[in-house]
Parts: sequence; structure tokens; C-alpha cells
Amino acid sequence: MPTVRALVIGGGVAGPVVAMALQRVGVEATVHEAYAAPAGDVGAWLGVQVNGLDALRAIGADRAVLEVGVPTPVIEFRSGTGRVLGAVPTAGPAPGAAPGVSAKRSDLYRALHGEALRRGIDIRYGSRLTGARSTPEGVTATFADGGTASADLLIGADGVRSTVRALLDPGCPPPRYVPVLNTAGYADHTPPGAEVGRLTMVFGRRAFAGYLAAPTGQTWWFANPPLPVEPGPGEVAAIHDGAWRARLLDLHRADRSPVADLVEATPGPLRGWTTYDLPTVRRWHGGRVVLIGDAAHATSPAAGQGASLAVEDAVTLARCLRDLPVPQALARFEQLRRTRVERAVAQGFRTSSAKSPPAVGRVVRDLVMPVALRWAAARGSDPQAWFRAHRVDWDAPVGAA
Ligand SMILES: Cc1cc2nc3c(=O)[nH]c(=O)nc-3n(C[C@H](O)[C@H](O)[C@H](O)COP(=O)(O)OP(=O)(O)OC[C@H]3O[C@@H](n4cnc5c(N)ncnc54)[C@H](O)[C@@H]3O)c2cc1C
Repeated sequence: MPTVRALVIGGGVAGPVVAMALQRVGVEATVHEAYAAPAGDVGAWLGVQVNGLDALRAIGADRAVLEVGVPTPVIEFRSGTGRVLGAVPTAGPAPGAAPGVSAKRSDLYRALHGEALRRGIDIRYGSRLTGARSTPEGVTATFADGGTASADLLIGADGVRSTVRALLDPGCPPPRYVPVLNTAGYADHTPPGAEVGRLTMVFGRRAFAGYLAAPTGQTWWFANPPLPVEPGPGEVAAIHDGAWRARLLDLHRADRSPVADLVEATPGPLRGWTTYDLPTVRRWHGGRVVLIGDAAHATSPAAGQGASLAVEDAVTLARCLRDLPVPQALARFEQLRRTRVERAVAQGFRTSSAKSPPAVGRVVRDLVMPVALRWAAARGSDPQAWFRAHRVDWDAPVGAA
């Protein structure tokens, strides 16, 4: 039988993982990444949850991520007054189950690229897709440098601003603005009372923030200043270090939390970015083209699931392609994934929007949240448990829809 070949567009999280998963099922994939090297430190750090680690384990790639991650067994919630509202474990319910990890976005990319390269995956950097043409037999992609490549299948793992998505559905709606900004950094000390591996989320009086003491003695933090109206292009990138610091100190100084001190103890320059999500993408596939990861369902970082869902997609798509012919495999992939990921996107948007409620909303939240978390703990579950409970059974055959 001739080897099936795939072009993977995008070398973020989903791209190298789908190439590794496809290798396991006999599909030869080449990854085309627009940039000259894996992402720098933009985006700071993120969570890889137990469901994402489980999907990586299915293809033997979890170790690479565990090596660059900080185990993060507990997420604690506090109000701006310093009151502990509750805490949830990140591990699954099984006794002794391993927790999720936090990783710098750039380390995560480097780890996945390193693992893919070690397995002989062909990753082409500086290779930006500009167009694609499907035929009944295959697909031909064109790149910004004038080159072309043909294969049996094209996988769009090219993120929230996906070119592949626009080629599949030229009239697709643009991503939705999520009404908080993001900035983050690494402070050079551990605040009093902080425990290594405990991620503390602070619902401050005027803004939301989080911090995690790392074993290095640094404290990783992020902050989400509210911005209800979408800024113009380039506006947030143009905010300079001094302006970020002034804004963050103003927002967090009145809270009983270490956030303002962490900002002051962070070497610059601070940078910020906007976030967009995709509540529902009309077309996930067409002919021999399919979307995975953020290209199909970007979520707000508040869901903490962007990277983990991208990994789940990658491994699930490979299982579908292993067991079904191309058109059915793509339809089955969408059927297996759409409901779950759209639920995550909706939950992430709700959480982002609730990060800075008006005063009366804060009072209600501070009263309700401890009760809700205690109730969930007593039942041995928490509101996020369904996300993390997802497991990939690599060997189970995927039946037709
Ligand atoms: C700037 C930024 C900051 C983020 N910060 C956080 C965070 O703090 N916390 C969190 O939980 N999540 C964050 N995320 C989201 C998280 O990184 C994603 O959910 C996760 O990486 C999804 O993986 P993906 O592979 O689908 O997309 P991505 O990781 O975005 O990868 C897409 C890749 O495709 C490439 N690409 C795009 N267009 C083309 C093209 N035409 N041709 C070839 N390659 C192309 C891009 O350069 C990129 O490398 C951030 C995302 C971004 C973009």
C-alpha cells in the first residue's frame, strides 16, 4: 500500500503532536511553520492539564512536557480581601494520580518540537501557507516563498488566525474578542505564604490575576486587566513597560494579595496581548482538509485548556485516520470532538467575562463560591472535573459515525 502523506500547517502545539501521532499510524507528515523558529516567550506560561498529559502519554510524548513543567497539584481561589474562597485539585480522582503541570509557552513549544525532531519528523520553518487546492485525489498547498507541496491530506493546525480555516470557509466569522487583556512575568522571589506548585487565582476588587511559586525561587504570574471594548490593531502591543506597571499597580495595590509586589519584582519589559476565541467554527473539514486545535476552537486562556484540547485533537485525528478512509475519518473526528471543545470555549468565555464583576457581583461570588467548592469537594468532584476526566484509549478502534 502506498504511504499516506499529510501536510501539517502550523508548528505550535497541535502541529508537532499530530505529526508524531500520525507517524504511529503510518502517515508521513511534514510540518510547515510560518516563523523561523518555535515561538519566543510571547504568551508567558500556561497549564497542561491531566487530560492533555494523558493524550500525550498515548503516543509516548508526555515525558518531554513533564520535564519542562512545574507540577501544579492545587488551584486555590482568593478574593481581593485575601480570603480563601476554596481550592480544587488538578489531578484525576484515582488515588495517587499525577497532577497537571504549568509550563512556559516557549518551553512547551521547544519540548514538543524537540521530541518531534528526535522522532525524525520533518519540520520546515519559515514556511507560511498562503493557498491550497483540493482535488479528489489529494491537495496542493502553496507557500509565501512561492513553493508548493502536495499530499493526500492537509491539516490546519495554524492557530486562532488560521489561514486554512479561511480557505475552507471564506466567509467564516472573525474570532471573538475576549474582554480582558493579558500580561505576565516571572518575579524573582516567592511571596510569604506561597507554596511551590500551588496556583493561586485572585479575584481582585478591580482585576483578576494569578501566581504560581516555581521550584526555582521565581514566582510566575499573570494579570487580566479588564478592557470591555476591543482595542485597535497594534494598540496593546504598543503599551510600554512603564505604562503596564503603572496600570497593574493601580489595579492591584488595594487588594490584600502579593500581585503588586510581584509586578515590582519582575524584570522588564512587560508586554501584553489581547485574546480571541471561536465559539463555533462552521466548517471543520472539507474534501481532504481538516482543522485542529485553536484553528477549530480557540478558547480563552481562562479555560486553562487551549494546549490540552489541541493535543487531544491531534491524537484523536490520528486514531480516526488509522481506522477509517479519509472523508469518513474527518467527519468522525469532528463528531468525536465538537461538543466537548465548544463547551470548553463557552466556559472559558464565561469565566473571562466574570473576572471583574461589579461590586454587588463580587459580594455574591465571594459568598457563593466557597459553598459551591465545598459542595463539590464533598461530592468528590469539582466544576472543571469533566474537562480533565477525558482519556484517550489509543488502541480502541474508531468505528464509523
Ligand atoms: C500569543 C498567544 C499567547 C497565548 N497565551 C496563552 C496563555 O497565556 N495561556 C493559555 O492557556 N493559552 C495561551 N495561548 C493559547 C495556547 O497557546 C493555544 O491554545 C495552544 O497553543 C493551541 O495550540 P495550536 O497548535 O492549536 O495553536 P498555536 O500554538 O497558536 O500554533 C499555531 C501555529 O501556526 C503557525 N501559523 C499560523 N499561520 C500559519 C501559516 N499560514 N502557515 C504556517 N504556519 C502558520 C503559528 O506561527 C503558530 O506557530 C496563547 C496563544 C497565543 C497565540
